[in-house]
Amino acid sequence: MCSDVSIDRPTSSSPPTVYLLGAGPGDPELLTIKAVRAIRQATVLLVDDLVGEAILRYARRSARIVRVGKRGGCRSTPQAFIERLMIAEARSGERVVRLKGGDPFIFGRGGEELEHLRAAGIGVEVVSGVTSAMAAAAAIGVPLTHRAHAHGVLFVTGHARSEGAAPSWAALGSVAAQGITLVVYMGIGSVNEIESGLLRSIAGNTPAAIVENASLPQERYVRCRLDELSSVVSTGRIGSPAIMIIGDVARGCDAVGLFAQHSTGT
Ligand code: SAH
Repeated sequence: MCSDVSIDRPTSSSPPTVYLLGAGPGDPELLTIKAVRAIRQATVLLVDDLVGEAILRYARRSARIVRVGKRGGCRSTPQAFIERLMIAEARSGERVVRLKGGDPFIFGRGGEELEHLRAAGIGVEVVSGVTSAMAAAAAIGVPLTHRAHAHGVLFVTGHARSEGAAPSWAALGSVAAQGITLVVYMGIGSVNEIESGLLRSIAGNTPAAIVENASLPQERYVRCRLDELSSVVSTGRIGSPAIMIIGDVARGCDAVGLFAQHSTGT
């Protein structure tokens, strides 16, 4: 099916190229055809820890798979090491694919990697992926911009890069109060601050939903009110990776029961 496209080894006239590739939220059926082609052609894959074995099945047997995960709070491969490795492998003629969960440009440092590769004279091809917000919304039947409820949607990280750089949740609450759906990535660890900050500017009964492991067989989801978010996370033992959706669009979502378990049939 995918044999018509090849990724050529770099020649002296073409600069080495790295594929910065979105692996989607986990379900391999959500990979793009372009992503599958690139994975099949790769000789070296540098893989984030949210990218599972079901995705790596598309890699050729001879490919070298380097896991460079960096889950929040866990030991991780230093970013500078990942960047140096990509550059070295590309320069030595390998067909390098950097596999990132979701979309490479939605959080997850794809932008930093792009800048470093370009600065080193390496060509970069970016292959979009389905970001986890979209998979989470689809899982619970929530149109993030349903025009009866929202003017737009805001993707925001709950994991600040350093102290002081945290978003102002009260300010974001004001934005949400204007009819903007909030989608929070990496928010489980700071759900208390998120809830209390938002409550300073929007109502406690604002609809909310959480989707854990969207698109994967172990997917779970829950619908609640904004002022229940943190208690739902602790009583449901909801962990990462999870997406929180806050706003009126979540009112009629499918996730009616607490911690409904969804099976993808795999
Ligand atoms: N580039 C990725 C996001 C990387 S940041 C993307 O586009 O999806 C990592 C965060 O993404 C996690 O903390 C979680 O909030 C979210 N995430 C990634 N995969 C997920 C999944 N399958 N289900 C729910 N959330 C997910």
